[in-house]
Amino acid sequence: MKKIYLDAGHGGADLGAVASGLYEKNLVLAVQQYIISFLSTHYEGFSLCTTRTADVFLSLNERVNKANAWGADVYLSIHINSGGETGYEDFIYSKNINNQTIVLRNDIHDHVKFVLTKYNHFNRGRKLANHSVLRRSYMPSVLTEIGFIDTEHDAKLLKNPQFLKDMGVAYAKGIAQFLNLESKSTNPVGDSDEEGFQKPTFLYKPLWIKTTEDTETYKDANMSERTGYLKKNTLFQVYGETRAAWVMDGQHFIEKKDTIIEGETITTAELTKENMETLKGFVTKEKLETAVTFSKEGVAAAIITLRDKKILNVKAFLDREKWWYKAERIKK
Ligand SMILES: [Zn+2]
Repeated sequence: MKKIYLDAGHGGADLGAVASGLYEKNLVLAVQQYIISFLSTHYEGFSLCTTRTADVFLSLNERVNKANAWGADVYLSIHINSGGETGYEDFIYSKNINNQTIVLRNDIHDHVKFVLTKYNHFNRGRKLANHSVLRRSYMPSVLTEIGFIDTEHDAKLLKNPQFLKDMGVAYAKGIAQFLNLESKSTNPVGDSDEEGFQKPTFLYKPLWIKTTEDTETYKDANMSERTGYLKKNTLFQVYGETRAAWVMDGQHFIEKKDTIIEGETITTAELTKENMETLKGFVTKEKLETAVTFSKEGVAAAIITLRDKKILNVKAFLDREKWWYKAERIKK
């Protein structure tokens, strides 16, 4: 049973950021409720604990102590900024950065990114900070600042329940991905949520793609709003995909239909006998036999030529083993 701890900031006499009739302490509670409701509707195999579900105050120490004592696997602290700037940002602890914390943050950030694009909300990025809840918690922990309460553009978003809901859903999906939560069979998370907003899957590393026709690019995954087009035989990199589209960056989507994956050749550094056996095991498991040449004389290395998404599996494998390699596009 995975344990999720949600920490809605402030509460009670501590209002948090306040401007134009908006109170941070209430907004973060609303977002938290969207997270809880999405998780409970779509996933199983987790339990949930919060700092507060009502308008009460707990000190920073009390919040972290509660999560530590409970043995949480994930800690998410939800906040709204003030100070007259604009945009979303999230923080992890600036010292002794733990790998799992980075993975959790990326899982969350990668889902949030698409909500930011949808609402044209500025992304201030993935940041480090010495916040006490991040420093004192024993588990992977992220603190997010959704927007600036005292900036017109951000305040308008914070007044929009659909925006708060989309943010909550993005947090929920990020946490679920990190914990590898099982989808409820009665209510699986589809490719799109109620708004038909398609959820891209992020690729492990970028892929090289080439257009085979003049192909239009779109603002979002639904491919409803055009942003331009790419000429036939244009090469570009993609970072994610939906069933029908490639994600070129946070801003542009392109239909897969008139594109092909460009081939790459991966050459490993010299391999020991043991490495060679490990690689052969992987190659058999992935059914890559025809794509791999093992050079025996002189330097024992492997050359792997692929023209499909399995390139990413190979790179993930080599990175995991921490083997040096170089990847080159196959030039015609
Ligand atoms: Zn705050």
